[in-house]
Amino acid sequence: MSDTTQTILSGFRDRFAAEADGLWFGPGRVNLIGEHTDYNDGFVFPFAINRRAVVALAVRDDRMLRVASSFTDEVVEISLDELSPETVSGWSAYPLGVAWALGEHGADLSAVTGFDAYIDSDVPIGAGLSSSAAIECATAVALNEVWNLGFEKQVLVRVGQLAENRVVGAPTGILDQSASLLGQTDAAVFLDCRSFESEIIPLGFDDAGLELLVIDTKVSHAHATGGYADRRASCEKGAALMGVGSLRDLTVDDLPRATSVLDEETFRRVRHIITENQRVLDTVRVLREDGPSAIGGLLDASHTSMRDDFEISVAELDLAVETARAAGALGARMTGGGFGGSAIALTPHALIPAVQEAVAEAFAAAGYTAPDMFVVRAAAGAARLS
Ligand code: ADP
Ligand code: MG
Repeated sequence: MSDTTQTILSGFRDRFAAEADGLWFGPGRVNLIGEHTDYNDGFVFPFAINRRAVVALAVRDDRMLRVASSFTDEVVEISLDELSPETVSGWSAYPLGVAWALGEHGADLSAVTGFDAYIDSDVPIGAGLSSSAAIECATAVALNEVWNLGFEKQVLVRVGQLAENRVVGAPTGILDQSASLLGQTDAAVFLDCRSFESEIIPLGFDDAGLELLVIDTKVSHAHATGGYADRRASCEKGAALMGVGSLRDLTVDDLPRATSVLDEETFRRVRHIITENQRVLDTVRVLREDGPSAIGGLLDASHTSMRDDFEISVAELDLAVETARAAGALGARMTGGGFGGSAIALTPHALIPAVQEAVAEAFAAAGYTAPDMFVVRAAAGAARLS
């Protein structure tokens, strides 16, 4: 048993004066490419990472639910009979929201007993690595097992999304939960957000001697909520003016018509989505045909499109991306919703120290807060740990 496992089990013991029945984990994720395409019925290409939330959980004899976390002293309690989107809030909305959402998806919550759960996580909060989905997915696999629900992982994806949409109140798609549940070692999840079909695509980073460096700019998503809603609205407007149900129905062949139909800003928003969908498809094809060393240009093009057309980057992200590339990264882009958060840089193993040093120096010279930098590996999706 690892040290972390011991720490989490003793955290559970401290809070609940009892032994956990088991440990379940849910990983964070990075989105390799395909940004803001999810709510346009498009393609995304994320992978689960080797940073994760772990839930220690024990079923109870009564109907109480109690949740605790290493990041707070608070223990939140509620009866299963009172559980609803209106009765939970704050951080506990993630694990308790999942319990509620399982009921919405057909679990008979009148026939189960409650639980005590203690959460620990090394997924940084708000860095664009989905610490939220990590908790949801760890909780979902735990309850799926202890409540004997037998739901497929695809259903648990929707459970996590429903918890996030209805209980937390964030209008997110299925990207985060799909990566966290379906991820596999050294592989990414090619996901069609229209059909919900997914395919596991080997990345081959290990064999090619490549690493994915995350550069967390520590810039908080100050305009994230307003900016996100505004970009969604532009996409809907663009689709309506182009006469399609969603931007997924357009391809690069429609761009000439789009220039005459759309105003200049809406055109650029639409061009980002259309070309980003194509870049996801190209990334999958290039990985298969030429291997991971050949996808750098697509990552770079994605960043340029987000910076200039979709306008969701910030100066810190641009500096991280440009500096990483100049120091030897094969390709780099901001990842996540934008207006802050993290950049990723696909980097040969031997050049990781040089890239980190260059980025740290460039941030210091620009007077920016020192970024956090760490390598992530594509890891297995949510499951029982022990
Ligand atoms: P992210 O991009 O990291 O998913 P979100 O805002 O979607 O950012 O989710 C972050 C929220 O998830 C935190 O504000 C907190 O409520 C919850 N959370 C994340 N990690 C933990 C943890 N270890 N324990 C309890 N709650 C957590
Ligand atoms: Mg989140």
